[in-house]
Amino acid sequence: MNQIHRAVAIDGPAASGKSTVAKRLAASLGLVMVNSGAMYRAVTWQILQEKIDPENSASVLEAMNRMEIECGVEDGLSTIAINGRLLTTEIRGAEVNEHVSKIASIPEVRERLVAMQREYLDNNDVVMEGRDIGSVVFPDTPFKLYISASEEVRAARRAKDGEADAVAQRDAQDRQRKASPLKVSDGSIVIDSSDLTIEGTVEAAREALIKFGWED
Ligand code: C5P
Repeated sequence: MNQIHRAVAIDGPAASGKSTVAKRLAASLGLVMVNSGAMYRAVTWQILQEKIDPENSASVLEAMNRMEIECGVEDGLSTIAINGRLLTTEIRGAEVNEHVSKIASIPEVRERLVAMQREYLDNNDVVMEGRDIGSVVFPDTPFKLYISASEEVRAARRAKDGEADAVAQRDAQDRQRKASPLKVSDGSIVIDSSDLTIEGTVEAAREALIKFGWED
């Protein structure tokens, strides 16, 4: 664990509200918000662009080895570029939603991206959200949150955003994979956001950090 910089780990299933909370928390505490899912999405988008079969792990890895992946920070938020192209809204589409869990289940894909996730801590205090941040990326951080919401609430949130995303199916894949499955990691405080507003969830997250001994 980096001794100089602090990491707040936020894990949880798809559409649990963790990105919104991570963003607000990072802004209010002056930390960089890192969206680790965007990294898995970016690799998936590039694989699909290259017309590679996401089910063929060997081809995926061969293509990934050729990718130049650059992680950065802009206005306090993480950015991701592949082969010089900054990727934003294009990685949120239905096709990426459909295939990202498969790509993210490949251990070598995770290895490369986890190393890049850890590098953020070299220069920044971070709030990082994902599926394995408390369990694998920063297991030693004392600041671990797990944000959940009922399946109905999560599906409704995605539908409201106009996104085609079978969240239940993606979660099942993320929970069942062998490599770094989604789970509540030891020492996490769980926040159920089903009946909370965004502000209420952020407040619960702040209270949890204070319980962990967070000092501004
Ligand atoms: O967070 P988001 O829903 O954008 O993540 C997209 C996908 O990336 C997840 O469904 C999961 O398969 C993968 N992911 C992961 N580990 C993370 C973050 C995301 O496996 N830390």
